[in-house]
Amino acid sequence: MLNIEIDEHSGFCFGVTTAIKKAEEELQKGETLYCLGDIVHNRIECDRLEKLGLITINHEEFAKLHNAKVLLRAHGEPPATYLIAQKNNLEIIDATCPVVLKLQQRIKKKWQEADNDNSQIVIYGQAGHAEVLGLVGQTHGTATVIEKSSQIDKIAKDKNTYIYSQTTKSLEGYKQVVSEIKEYVNKDRECESFNTVCGQVANRLDGIGNFAKSHELIFFVCGKKSSNGRILFDECKKMNPHSYQIEGPEDLDLTLTQGVHSIGICGATSTPKWLMENCKQAIINYNNR
Ligand code: SF4
Repeated sequence: MLNIEIDEHSGFCFGVTTAIKKAEEELQKGETLYCLGDIVHNRIECDRLEKLGLITINHEEFAKLHNAKVLLRAHGEPPATYLIAQKNNLEIIDATCPVVLKLQQRIKKKWQEADNDNSQIVIYGQAGHAEVLGLVGQTHGTATVIEKSSQIDKIAKDKNTYIYSQTTKSLEGYKQVVSEIKEYVNKDRECESFNTVCGQVANRLDGIGNFAKSHELIFFVCGKKSSNGRILFDECKKMNPHSYQIEGPEDLDLTLTQGVHSIGICGATSTPKWLMENCKQAIINYNNR
């Protein structure tokens, strides 16, 4: 008897759920709706919304757009985006996640209050990631982004240092980098860290590890660009070497399911539940053939 379980804690976080709901509501009104960047790091969900009429544009296209309605996704945007919108008479449907918005405001406040000749803001995050660009934008582009300990020399030793994290980084990685920065910065300087990893990601790590351990085979459903997906999949792989990352049912190597009694399906905060259900159905169909 084959048991296939979908992890009840996997799937959209509230930030992504809200952004998608806003997009669906606007699309129902029948007006043209643009989205600045992929609404979610999941190609298949983006395709579904594009079929409903959502038009995804990049920042270059956004800058040339006038008199239109544009949705800003959960990752948030830097202040420059809002200025363009004002100049080009664009109506903004702002789906920035409240957690990201709060982080942007904290960074902005710290940057405005600090003596910027002697202080620096450091963001532990993925350079070029949309959320990180939005955070760096709060400091007029002056924040230093580091992705790993080996980049620590980008930080000035002789400045007061305030460290924040991209919301979807791993808590473990953040703690490690913070402890190294605290060693690195001159001792006569302030060095403060603010744990801004989102609970929706941090709290899922243990759960997903236990879920992965409880099955013989794991299919982790996730888009390739998802930052938290990488962290959650690494955890699955650590706990169960028979873990495979797929984008959707078409990537399933169904031969792996032969002779297996227990399969787990899980995903990232950008993975729709319906997609995990489709993967489950594909496995059932294959094994009932
Ligand atoms: S992971 Fe957290 S911060 Fe990011 S969109 Fe989801 S709820 Fe918001």
